Amino acid sequence: MDMLIRRGDLVDGTGSAKRQADVVVEGGLVKGVERAGSVDPGQAETVIDAAGKLVTPGFVDPHTHYDGQATWDDRLAPSSDHGVTTAVMGNCGVGFAPVRPGGEEFLIALMEGVEDIPGAALADGIDWAWESFPEYLDALASKPRAIELAAQVPHGAIRAYVLGRSGNVNRPATPSEIDQMALLTEGAVSAGAVAFSTNRIALHVSTNGEAVPGTFADKSEILALVRATQAGGSNLLQVVPDGLMGENPDGFRAEVELYRQLSLETGCTVSFTLAQNNVQTDLWLEILEKMERANREGAKLVGMTANRPGGILMSWDSFNIFMDRPSYLEVAALPLSERLEHLRDPAMRKRILSEEVQSPLLKNGHMIVMQSLGATYIFDGDPTFEPDPSESIGRRIEQLGESAEKVVYDTMCEIGKGFLHVYMGNYADGDLGAVEQMMRHEGTFIGAADGGAHVTVLCDAGYPTFMLQHWVRDRSRGERFSVEEAVRMLTKEPADLYGFSDRGVVEPGRRADLNVIDLERLRMHMPRVENDLPTGAPRLLQGADGYAATVVAGEVTFRDGKDTGARPGGLIRRRASSV
Ligand SMILES: [Zn+2]
Repeated sequence: MDMLIRRGDLVDGTGSAKRQADVVVEGGLVKGVERAGSVDPGQAETVIDAAGKLVTPGFVDPHTHYDGQATWDDRLAPSSDHGVTTAVMGNCGVGFAPVRPGGEEFLIALMEGVEDIPGAALADGIDWAWESFPEYLDALASKPRAIELAAQVPHGAIRAYVLGRSGNVNRPATPSEIDQMALLTEGAVSAGAVAFSTNRIALHVSTNGEAVPGTFADKSEILALVRATQAGGSNLLQVVPDGLMGENPDGFRAEVELYRQLSLETGCTVSFTLAQNNVQTDLWLEILEKMERANREGAKLVGMTANRPGGILMSWDSFNIFMDRPSYLEVAALPLSERLEHLRDPAMRKRILSEEVQSPLLKNGHMIVMQSLGATYIFDGDPTFEPDPSESIGRRIEQLGESAEKVVYDTMCEIGKGFLHVYMGNYADGDLGAVEQMMRHEGTFIGAADGGAHVTVLCDAGYPTFMLQHWVRDRSRGERFSVEEAVRMLTKEPADLYGFSDRGVVEPGRRADLNVIDLERLRMHMPRVENDLPTGAPRLLQGADGYAATVVAGEVTFRDGKDTGARPGGLIRRRASSV
């Protein structure tokens, strides 16, 4: 046998009770699950002593944006640092294929605007060795990685490909254009794409202010593309709904009605993002009820939720609301310690605070931050993600009686390289009660972490670690989840949604994608900024302690948090037979 994981506490992903077991691995697959201590370790090439540790399936992250990064990077941090062994990309209608020669810049501007991935890094990093989606899949498949990837067909790229030359990618499509998009979609899914994705929220715009192509598509277009997806062999539509951020509550209601109709008419599953926004703080409940009603009628709607507040990480080295003011730019290039000296100088402070945000994109961010100070917290040590509202920056502003910007500025100077964590959603009640209720709902699954995206703004790709650390082990302000439930939500549930029948559970015949976890020692690190994207562009990364081993296809990829250099991960292609 290739590997024996000995005497671990097996949580197998099905939700059934934790039990001690020996897991035998051979040929990249789980060969056997045996009574603990019953297998002779002398027979195994590699033995991992898992006594006192959890043994789980590798985690499946259904919502990432590694579409560009995957073409130049074989490690795929931060997901790979948190036990993720399978990631789905191509979410939210954005991606890099198909693309016509000359159309690359538009797709980059879209990814930069919608997902905050630096355009220069994408332009430098991507080699564009493809035009069609099947060619893109071949390019992905040619490069081994630390984790497995699956790709969805993005509506944005499909629409830009067909309508792009007309100069208006968001006008209504003609019947012949819809036919062309359908043909491309079917071809992409037949070649192995695992779903079709589309964006409906008008707030998602490229750096040129253009909404994601397809945002305003009418029902006939989406219906045609869902049917094309089904003809190619997948049955799943992934959507970011209009109204998600609280900007248009009737829009969100209308969306669920549209999903209901699409699902009832075609039999497809519609997975849409669901969160508690800071404006209509109960809208999520109403949406869940609409979803339940639709599902009772036979529709298949699922809500994709996060397991924590969705937050902007504001710091002097990443995103902040002062970053493009003229006086700040004078010192922006200095190392942080020197910069802080200048920033603490009263004259400099006064000048920066008297100036305004310059760029339109940052104005949006500024607005969100200023509206969310009541749910903004200092993050300068161990993460809790469920702080008491009495510790918020909003409360600090009330107590000090000073202007909001001044308090934000002074607090950032005080914490130096620490962060202010701005919760944009899921924390309107001052705790994670709403998130808990969303996660416990049987019609939802977890996965809204955006790994690979918003690289200097947020860093939520470590959500599997948070699930175990906070929801299973540490939570004190409400109920916890059992480890069996939590692991099922990180493994079998997303694997089932995407039809990955070869993984997500530890049992003989499935892939040997596994984690060995010391739950007692599990701890997320502080996020950190590293300038390691192409062109030296910065991104936020975050590590964790407590992952004793991560195994992909029977090879150890991470040992005690260290990359072993093994690259057994490939591209998952949906087989046309597994509709
Ligand atoms: Zn996304």
